[in-house]
Amino acid sequence: MNLILLRPDELAAAEAGSHRAVLADRRLQHLREVLRARAGDEVGVGVEGGAIGRATVVALDAHAAELQVRLSEPPPPALDVTLALALPRPPTLRKVLQQATALGVKRFALFRAERVERSYFSSHGLHATAIAEDLRLGLEQARDTIVPTVEIHPEHFGRFVRERLPALSEGRSLLVAHPGAPTPCPRAPIGPATLMVGPEGGFIPAEVAALAQVAQAIDLGPRILRVETAVVALLARLSP
Ligand code: SAM
Repeated sequence: MNLILLRPDELAAAEAGSHRAVLADRRLQHLREVLRARAGDEVGVGVEGGAIGRATVVALDAHAAELQVRLSEPPPPALDVTLALALPRPPTLRKVLQQATALGVKRFALFRAERVERSYFSSHGLHATAIAEDLRLGLEQARDTIVPTVEIHPEHFGRFVRERLPALSEGRSLLVAHPGAPTPCPRAPIGPATLMVGPEGGFIPAEVAALAQVAQAIDLGPRILRVETAVVALLARLSP
């Protein structure tokens, strides 16, 4: 955690443009056990949806930490890539949400494909609280404060492509990562983009054919990567 992420309602006005915040949850544990913070230490802070800055630990014990917070700069710029991901198994989803959030993705769309296990759509990992936790971990890692949105599209793949994908890709380049595609993934930002990543078992031929009508297929080279690795490699190539 490189930033203690505060909710706006946790900030109370204090002297000279600073704020006061009191923590008593896992952020307190992190301050004590990982950062080994003591009174007088400075830590990175940010407020959800707002600025980042520094905080002085005013007091800290086993029950609570009191911080004096000074917010001074905007969070890092977002990466204008919408990530449309065939819903992977829950542990993979957690990794992807955390890592792609850390890399600056602000919009996720989770869709169904033939090789997506149906039960994944009712897994605990898709509960709002579980998703919020993964997004928060990604933001804290990257010193960001802007919480991404996550849409879940359990409808049939064909319907998703016909009815949802146009809105997800309006005004944006639409790329689909597919091993063996003749076009290599760009190695630089290409402007606003929607990037589709397939399921662990890959897209079936009919899905590849449907996507070929609307998206540019791109390849990452001869190594077939796990979903979580492919996502990071793709986003890194499309980042400034
Ligand atoms: N056997 C599957 C196939 O050939 O499509 C492997 C699927 S891979 C584990 C899961 C997803 O990661 C793929 O659908 C694709 O979106 C992405 N991916 C993994 N390696 C890739 C590569 N070398 N080039 C492009 N996309 C890749």
